[in-house]
Amino acid sequence: MGGSAVSSGTDLSADVYEPGTDDLLETQAKLQVAVQTLIAGIGEDLQRDGLRDTPKRVAKAWLDASSGYRKTAKSVVGGALFHEPEIANTSGGLVIVRDIDFASTSETSLLPFYGRCHLGYLPSHGVVLGLSKVARLVAMLAKRLQTQERFTQELLNAFEAEVLPQGCAVVVEANQLESGQKAHIRVSSARSGCFLQPEVMEEFDTLLRFSGAAKHEAVRGLAGVTPTLGVSSAEKLLDDTRLRYSASSAVTNGLEECMEEAEHEQGTEVSAALEGAVLTILREIGEDPGREGLRGSAQRYVKFLLASTAGYKEPMLHQDGCMDTCSNYSRQSRRQASHAKGLHVHFMSHCEHHMLPFHGQVHIAYLPGYKHTVSSEEIKALVKTCSRRLQIQERLTQEIADGVDSLTGGTGALIACEASHMCMVARGVEKHASSTITTAARGAYLQHTALRADTLQHLMQYQDEIKSG
Ligand SMILES: [Zn+2]
Repeated sequence: MGGSAVSSGTDLSADVYEPGTDDLLETQAKLQVAVQTLIAGIGEDLQRDGLRDTPKRVAKAWLDASSGYRKTAKSVVGGALFHEPEIANTSGGLVIVRDIDFASTSETSLLPFYGRCHLGYLPSHGVVLGLSKVARLVAMLAKRLQTQERFTQELLNAFEAEVLPQGCAVVVEANQLESGQKAHIRVSSARSGCFLQPEVMEEFDTLLRFSGAAKHEAVRGLAGVTPTLGVSSAEKLLDDTRLRYSASSAVTNGLEECMEEAEHEQGTEVSAALEGAVLTILREIGEDPGREGLRGSAQRYVKFLLASTAGYKEPMLHQDGCMDTCSNYSRQSRRQASHAKGLHVHFMSHCEHHMLPFHGQVHIAYLPGYKHTVSSEEIKALVKTCSRRLQIQERLTQEIADGVDSLTGGTGALIACEASHMCMVARGVEKHASSTITTAARGAYLQHTALRADTLQHLMQYQDEIKSG
């Protein structure tokens, strides 16, 4: 087999116990208690409106993310193997299924990773698999705790075991987030049988790049930049490195920063209790927290959770009532657009509905305060305090606006917040590239539409300069 020596964490041929509804409800109840422990542990109020249904929602999401343990390749394939004499009598041609979206959970960080995979095979004795079943196999294996490499190898193994082709190849492209590294797209591949021949692999690679059929949008990098996802050239797939790193962004991302900070989190009594809750989650979804790949994952996740909610330690800024200046700006508002200070701050926050990260950039414009000189460091600290807690993007944007307004003395603040939400990609086949923008205005920006429009344009231009520079 052509794949690298990746240990297979799960035996695909084994019959997996399919629990009845009662068992699942009991599991869900235990997961719910564990999630409540996590939320209370970071200092949040479980009775708060936005958080009331979160434990149930997160428990269900964990059940879904682990539903692959309750299926086997055999049960997924079912009766969808077809014998085609036409194919059997010729030397056959390659069959390829491209661009299958998937979202899985990293066993290392317990956070989602997602992307697309492509599978090619050469039928043997005219046996073909119903095409939709390939996507079902992908979904089954993705809904387990995985590493990208094992996922790639297991897909190949499962397909081989059920379909018995003359050869098979799998290529997986995924958004990866690992501590100490920039967010990147990683490509992994595995192959067997006739695909071990360079010519067959070359043919596969060329076919992957045909573009006549409707294709999905390219997966976007974690920082919102669209990398070219054309599958690597034949030589790249054939060389022994097997993995290709492509930085998806040149800028520091709020998520990476948070991951780095998480490494320096100190263990406390609180974190020990939280770790216990995460271990419960792992056991309840049918995993063995003691197995090698999961060792340290619970602790790692807790540190990340604590770092990403460290904002609770800092007080929020409140408006200090300097609204009287707004009227001074009524006539010269358009000219002020160019006088505004602009700032683009990367942030990372935690969605309070799904307990998953959302991250992106906050674009901030403010009119120079008549009382205070505000440093960009102060504003960055403000963004951090507001974002490092359980949030929704809409409220985060308003809170940053209040904070900037208060810091600058109430002259005017305009905020546009761009973010991509892991909860939107982790829920399966939705658009992986979707992102959300929210805005908030204070002071002069609230009153003057033209000023708002002009300033937004300035902010965008300034941002483009940064990107191209
Ligand atoms: Zn969410």
